[in-house]
Amino acid sequence: MAISKIAGKVQTVLGVIEGEDLGATLIHEHLFIDGKCLFTEPEGASERALAYEPVDWHNLSWLRYHPYQNLDNMRLLDEQEAIDEAMIFKKSGGRTIVDVTITGIGRDPKGIARVSRATGLNVVMGSGYYTAPSLSPEFAAKPEEEITDEIVQDITVGVGGTGIRAGLIGEIGCSWPLHDYERKTLKAAAVAQQKTGACLSVHPGRNRKAPFDVVDILEQAGADLSRVIICHIDARIRDHEGRTQMLQKGCVLEYDLWGWEGHFPTYWTSDDYMDLPNDTQRIYEIRRHIEEGYLNQIVMSHDICAKTRRTRYGGWGYAHILNYVVPMMRQRGITQEQIDAIIMANPRRLLTFI
Ligand SMILES: [Zn+2]
Repeated sequence: MAISKIAGKVQTVLGVIEGEDLGATLIHEHLFIDGKCLFTEPEGASERALAYEPVDWHNLSWLRYHPYQNLDNMRLLDEQEAIDEAMIFKKSGGRTIVDVTITGIGRDPKGIARVSRATGLNVVMGSGYYTAPSLSPEFAAKPEEEITDEIVQDITVGVGGTGIRAGLIGEIGCSWPLHDYERKTLKAAAVAQQKTGACLSVHPGRNRKAPFDVVDILEQAGADLSRVIICHIDARIRDHEGRTQMLQKGCVLEYDLWGWEGHFPTYWTSDDYMDLPNDTQRIYEIRRHIEEGYLNQIVMSHDICAKTRRTRYGGWGYAHILNYVVPMMRQRGITQEQIDAIIMANPRRLLTFI
């Protein structure tokens, strides 16, 4: 069914490789990102001063609760910093990073190719469009078919004139409630998935109902749900039954906010509130899904998209899962074989074109 010539292989920014070369994989990260579209200016005048300061020691505490109210915090633009932070993952045994930064938040094919060469890590690039607020008004006139063609082009020919090709679709950005732009992109992405055999990663809006909406649209558009990743599940569906419903549909659930514990800021959700688990709760939730037979539908990552989540600003960084979460998983009865399925075999299956 795929039109690409890469069935059975994985496509990185430096070319096609075998799935067995992927090793420990972070399936949802950002080496570069310009998240200014998600920036919210604080109400109060004194806090507005903090909003435009560079991230530094004196504002780190404030940033814990206001991560998206500081413009500098939401921009990962420094290439050497990306290399240094990615190297920590490599030194901890990591081999592959999937950069799901796409149009709207500053996708940078040449930049991530340079990070790949400098670090020796495999880097896989995404394709598609982020949430409506990140897009220009011209997007309204773009037909769905054109979006499909662009994604297919990214995968088969490369982005613009760079010759650098995407290896998956997404993270497709959705808001809550879903915007017309986002409905159009989802449908286009589902068709592009059928044409290319790529896996499709979706960021649902911040509401429990959002992932269910997304899956309905994708299903109707003919997507292969067994190759659909629902991102940020640890901050969307907080009940076991809801997640099980998603798993029964065949989707892959992505726990991708490891290290981010406690709570979301109150200004950040369209629900009355949204709980955020800590890492041990995440482990217990995953263990229960494994016990119920869904090992092959779980993946993990950090989704590092702000300075404060990197080590040089006091965050956990890209090696948190390998260094600290994996030992906690073993301690809580998840076997090494099961851990390998989650951090290696599942990403490998998803990133291998069919
Ligand atoms: Zn992300």
